[in-house]
Amino acid sequence: MRVNMELRNLPGVDKILTDKRIAVVAGKYPHDLLVSVIREQLEQERLSIIGGKAGASLDGIVKAVLGGLEAVLKPTLRRVVNASGVILHTNLGRAPLSREAIAAMEEASRGYANLEIDMGSGARGSRHVHIESLLCRLTGAEAAFVVNNNASGVLLGLTALARRKKVIVSRGQAVEIGGGFRIPDVMRQSGAKLVEVGTTNCTYARDFEQAIDESTVALMRVHSSNFSLVGYTSEVSLEELIVIAKKYNLIVLDDLGSGSLLDTTAFGLAPEPMVQQSVKAGTSVTFFSGDKLLGGPQAGVIVGSKEYVEKLKKHPLARAARIDKMRLAGIAATLLHYLKGEAVAKVPVWKMIAAPLKEIDKRAGDWAKALGGEANVVDGQTMIGGGSLPGGSLPTKLVAIGGGSKKVQEISRKLRLREVPVIGRIEKDRLLLDPRTVLPEEDEIVVRALSEIIKK
Ligand SMILES: *Cc1c(COP(=O)(O)O)cnc(C)c1O
Repeated sequence: MRVNMELRNLPGVDKILTDKRIAVVAGKYPHDLLVSVIREQLEQERLSIIGGKAGASLDGIVKAVLGGLEAVLKPTLRRVVNASGVILHTNLGRAPLSREAIAAMEEASRGYANLEIDMGSGARGSRHVHIESLLCRLTGAEAAFVVNNNASGVLLGLTALARRKKVIVSRGQAVEIGGGFRIPDVMRQSGAKLVEVGTTNCTYARDFEQAIDESTVALMRVHSSNFSLVGYTSEVSLEELIVIAKKYNLIVLDDLGSGSLLDTTAFGLAPEPMVQQSVKAGTSVTFFSGDKLLGGPQAGVIVGSKEYVEKLKKHPLARAARIDKMRLAGIAATLLHYLKGEAVAKVPVWKMIAAPLKEIDKRAGDWAKALGGEANVVDGQTMIGGGSLPGGSLPTKLVAIGGGSKKVQEISRKLRLREVPVIGRIEKDRLLLDPRTVLPEEDEIVVRALSEIIKK
């Protein structure tokens, strides 16, 4: 009885449209949008009454409609401050870009660009020219181009060069990268026949040689980017793979995952395979990501010998995996930092890796101060992440907030729900915030967020 009454008493759409506050937004936005938001709100109201709750007042419904409209009109993809201590955090968008890369992307997208036009002749050109010579100069490769992302680059490579043929991979490298991206699945998708050799922990040159037959075209190395095998292990080096490939007239494909143009050991990190080394060793085609250690926008970089790279460029899948002008401009600007020898000073990922511990300690101290006596600075580790340097980490200083699991969860939630969310990580009932992964110009946001949340 009560339920029927309350349902009957619900205002109609027209009634809500006559409200003064609604009239204000009605003048600003399309009528259909407003009506659809009102209908959704009324439907929620009906369900809540049927569920046993008391019906809201007209004022309550109007407020809910205004709130609903605001939520619909706000982009859900927004910036966050990454205090998680993972530099290449895939869920947080991987690499932040340099000022120059951002400017280049804006410039390329504001108006038109000479994307595919030869300025000398006025004839149609290729978008690859904007990046090819840069990549060749930096890596020593004969030919190069970029596609949408590394996964599509690998798929394109296998499809163009190994469809219906056998590709031999060490069992220890037939890995899942994360997010369900599995090398064996990609190979199947390309139509290449994957032949896994060796055992999980040990693969020898003879395992490769014994598996080669007349339908084999390629040997492949996949960088086991997100885990490391420790203990009794044996892998065939890239150099050995190339010796075998030459002997049997096969090609060698190298999926570096992150890859690096700089020597990570110079920063106290474990060695990450360098693109230049892969090229120098004589790999046919090398694949790596634009937004991992390269520090640019999402892209798949393909470098190698002209014969094979040209086949990839001309394959129909290359069109399906094509990169847009905006990211092409961003990758080119990022590569220029390396060419000028200024990557460590300009590319945010490398700035974070190279940041001195003393500087991080100072920032952590400032953050902790904002929290009064509620936090302290402790030693910790920054992870590189993004499928590079398995187990690779850098010493850092963390702001640690304790007070029990419930309180820590609550603070962490409040930080996530702010206008500019701040993302930390919880370990052993402590909320940990790492200044190394936060851009220095964002310190203010963190300090304000922490002091407001603690004071409340
Ligand atoms: C990350 C990774 C990929 C996928 O690269 P995306 O740029 O994310 O598409 C492929 N292979 C390896 C070894 C990786 O680490």
